[in-house]
Amino acid sequence: MSNHPLILVIEDDQTVSGFMSAILSANDYKVLHAATGKEAILMTASYLPDIILLDLGLPDMDGINVLKTIRQWSKVPILVVSARGTEREKIEALDLGADDYITKPFGPGELLARIRTEIRHSQHAEDPALAEKMVTGNLEVNYAKRLVLLDGKEIHLTPIEYKILVVLAKHIGKVLTYDFIIREVWGAYGNDIWTLRVNISNIRKKIEDNSAEPRYIVTEMGVGYRMAES
Ligand code: CA
Repeated sequence: MSNHPLILVIEDDQTVSGFMSAILSANDYKVLHAATGKEAILMTASYLPDIILLDLGLPDMDGINVLKTIRQWSKVPILVVSARGTEREKIEALDLGADDYITKPFGPGELLARIRTEIRHSQHAEDPALAEKMVTGNLEVNYAKRLVLLDGKEIHLTPIEYKILVVLAKHIGKVLTYDFIIREVWGAYGNDIWTLRVNISNIRKKIEDNSAEPRYIVTEMGVGYRMAES
């Protein structure tokens, strides 16, 4: 990837695409724009963007089908741009290979943070999944030593709580669906969101200053959880 990643913005609303292009250009990204699904697929094939921002509501075809088509031959990070109250659509997009989503309306800070996360995860050398430890704020998850430290002090977690925290830490910055976390922690036969919620609640009591306003493990309403970057 070059120093100036190429971002393809797939969005039919000119106000939104203009807003995104302005922010991205001002932050040294190169920006391409497609207003229809067909155009988007062609541009992805010819320009090989480093990241795609995909609006799901397009005039000529469902954004989900754009996602499916691109995923047949490309692993490019795809960030879905979605409306509020469309949790089922977000989960479907994530299941079909989208890397994350951002909910409209969003500010420049949130957009840039999501893009930085995608770039980091797609650059193999800095992939947090391959690191020995994860540090965010005052929290450290040290995989090599199987230690969790808060302000340098060891936090005692149950084996399940530790597994959940590791899954979140290895995907720091990215939303993880309930199903994804459950599969990673309990395997293919786990299906109990309630047990996951109880465990998350217990982890929060141990690592968060205020469980009601978590700083590290953020709830993505109706979708899953995200470990926040500091
Ligand atoms: Ca749209």
